Amino acid sequence: MNVTDRIYVAGHKGLVGSAIMRALEQQGYSHLITRSSSELDLRDRQQVDDFFETEEIDYVFLAAAKVGGIAANNDYPADFIRDNLLIQTNVIDAAYRAKVQKLMFLGSTCIYPKYAPQPLKEEHLLTGELEPTNMPYAIAKIAGINMCQSYNRQYGTRFISVMPTNLYGPGDNFDLHTSHVLPALIRKFHEAKVQNQPVVEVWGTGNPKREFLHSDDLADACIYLMKNYEDSEIVNIGVGEDIAIKDLAGMIMEIVGYQGEISFNSSIPDGTPRKLVDVSKINALGWTAQTPLAEGLQELYRTFQTEFLVKQ
Ligand code: GDP
Repeated sequence: MNVTDRIYVAGHKGLVGSAIMRALEQQGYSHLITRSSSELDLRDRQQVDDFFETEEIDYVFLAAAKVGGIAANNDYPADFIRDNLLIQTNVIDAAYRAKVQKLMFLGSTCIYPKYAPQPLKEEHLLTGELEPTNMPYAIAKIAGINMCQSYNRQYGTRFISVMPTNLYGPGDNFDLHTSHVLPALIRKFHEAKVQNQPVVEVWGTGNPKREFLHSDDLADACIYLMKNYEDSEIVNIGVGEDIAIKDLAGMIMEIVGYQGEISFNSSIPDGTPRKLVDVSKINALGWTAQTPLAEGLQELYRTFQTEFLVKQ
C-alpha cells in the first residue's frame, strides 16, 4: 500500500473507521476516500456498484457495520443481521468486480463459540454454538469471513479478515441503551458522582470477563496487516489480557472519583462468560498492542467530558 494509493474507508465516522482514518492521515496517505451513510447507503447494491465503478479504489477497509452492545443486539436482531449482510455483501462483491487490490473485512470476536476454550484461537471459529445474545450479528460476520475466503479461492482476490476484541476510544457511543460496557460505566459513574447518587447499577453478575483494545491500537494493527498479511485465514487483534466486569467497574469508579456503592443486577444477562483472544498469531507477525487499559480509560473519561458532555 503506497501513500498515493486510493484507499476507501467504509464506516469512516465510526469508532473503528475514524481511528483508521486518523492513522492513515498520520502516516501520510493522501487519497483517502469516504462517504457518509447519507451520501452512500451501503445497503443499496446499485449505489455501491456505482460508487466502486467511478472511484477506482485500490484498497478497502470495510469497517462499516451496524454495531451495538448487548441490549441493542437483543432488541434489534433483524436489523443487525440484515444490515450487516447487505453492507458486507455489497461492498465485497463490488470490490471484486471493480478489481480492488486488497480488502480488509473487520469482524468481531463474538464470531467464536460461546464455550470455546480460552484464549480464543483463530481455529476455534465454527467449532461450537454461538452466544445467543448476539447471534444475528455474529452470523452476519461469519458469512463475511467466508465470503472473503470464497472469493479468494474462486476469483483469486486478496481479501483478508481480522477479528478485533472489544474496542473503545474517541467517538465511542455513550448512549446507555446501545453502548458497550466501558462507555456505559463511565457515564453511569460520572452521572452518579455529579448527582450524588448512593448506588450505581452494573448489569449482570460482574463475573464475565472482557478484553478491551484501544481503537488507535486497532487502526495501527489494521494498517500493519494490510501491508504485511496475505492469507485467507482470520487474524485476532487484541491485547491478550482480560478483566472481570466487577474489577473494571472498580477501576472506572476510581478514575471518575465516585465514592458510592456498586450493585450488580443479575436479572440482566451476562452474555458470554469470557472472550479473551489468543494474540500469538498477530504477535508472531510482528505486532503488539501498546495502550495500557488504565491509560486508555483515563483518556476515555476525558473523551466523555469533551465529546459527550459538551454536546448535551
Ligand atoms: P458484549 O461484550 O457483547 O457482551 O457487550 P457489552 O459491552 O454490552 O457487555 C459486556 C458485559 O458488561 C456484559 O456482561 C454486560 O452485562 C456487562 N455490563 C455491565 N454493566 C453494563 C452496562 O451498563 N452496559 C453494558 N452494555 N454492559 C454492561
